[in-house]
Amino acid sequence: MTDDLCPREAEVLRACESGMWPADLADHVSRCDACREVQAVARVLREAVDAEDAAQLPTAHDIWWRAQWQARQEARARAMRPLDRMERAEPLVALVAVVALLVLRGDVLLSQLTGWATSNSTGQVLQAVMPPALLPVLLVGAGLGALVFLVGIGAVLAND
Ligand SMILES: [Zn+2]
Repeated sequence: MTDDLCPREAEVLRACESGMWPADLADHVSRCDACREVQAVARVLREAVDAEDAAQLPTAHDIWWRAQWQARQEARARAMRPLDRMERAEPLVALVAVVALLVLRGDVLLSQLTGWATSNSTGQVLQAVMPPALLPVLLVGAGLGALVFLVGIGAVLAND
């Protein structure tokens, strides 16, 4: 290692990088210890940088595997798209079905539920505690609460 500086070291660095050596510079390097050292260090650094670039490139197998994986993911997403749409529409369909059922057959359902609720001992206790006019309202409220709960569960499961 030499401690002497040479004014042409920058030229040597540029020539190392470009690979183009003017005749006078090549002649100078053959005679100058400092420039020979700059040339040797630049060569070692260039080899290290080139080796690092080659190591970071993915192999053909990696590229192929990633492309296959991505294609599978896209095919899966394409295949699941109609099911996802159906899952999102399920709560709405359930709500429409329940409303239609209540509009078309609500009076029959309500009388059946009231009859069932008052037929056993719990129903009779309920009737003794609250006025009979509140029982249908309570049943409808419980049914709507259950529906909201089911719609919420369906929405949570659809977002998975
Ligand atoms: Zn020199």
